[in-house]
Amino acid sequence: AARRIPLVCGNFKLNGSRSMLEGIAKTLNGASLSSNVQVGVAPSAVHLDLMRQKLRSEVMVGAQDCWTKGSGAFTGETSADMLVDLGLEFSIVGHSERREKGETSAEIGEKAAYATSKGLMVIGCIGEKLEHRESGKTMSVITEQMQGYLAALKEEEMWSDMVLAYEPVWAIGTGKTASPEQAQEVHGELRDWLKTNISEKVAAETRILYGGSVTEKNCDELIKKEDIDGFLVGGASLKPEFVQICQAPG
Ligand code: PEP
Repeated sequence: AARRIPLVCGNFKLNGSRSMLEGIAKTLNGASLSSNVQVGVAPSAVHLDLMRQKLRSEVMVGAQDCWTKGSGAFTGETSADMLVDLGLEFSIVGHSERREKGETSAEIGEKAAYATSKGLMVIGCIGEKLEHRESGKTMSVITEQMQGYLAALKEEEMWSDMVLAYEPVWAIGTGKTASPEQAQEVHGELRDWLKTNISEKVAAETRILYGGSVTEKNCDELIKKEDIDGFLVGGASLKPEFVQICQAPG
């Protein structure tokens, strides 16, 4: 992971109140974070502006999802244009909790392409369910999900703002973390896939985060693996221990 800047990002999901988030901002503002690690948080859309105002500028703020277009008759959606207008830095797309509600890989790829075209960094999630892992289908599920990004991010340059997050669904919110070896195996295969399907440059430069029950207890072992470039953190990102996870890549 030598040439890739580590990234640790918190996904608050549907959690938090103004006062709780102000507390989190205070903790992060007072923490000693290495300038060699990028840190970001993704609160709910209604809290984005508050978090951007409360957090020091070194900590990135981004959305948990964003739409395929800039504006129009799309009730309930949030656009990349609006995120940029708020001074935000990134958006997550393709989280398994959204795929579960019927989002397709093609649609998620379009979201990623639109957001990167507006200058946002995009964290594109992928990951298999337990039944896929148990039946040996992990990589076929992941490469199907990758086809969505591949089809939409047509030019090599479009990948420069793209980050991938490998999040095995069986590890999300379950307390069951993938072992460092299990995670590294998939991250390594993903990097090979990027090399074969896009380019050597994209394979070498794209950061691949691990997500799924990351805590302050398991982050140090995971980050040692060659192809693990940081974390996407759910539950633990709401706790003070998030700071220790942000410090793991050192
Ligand atoms: C997530 O939602 O992206 C996630 C990884 O959740 P948790 O850390 O709680 O497993």
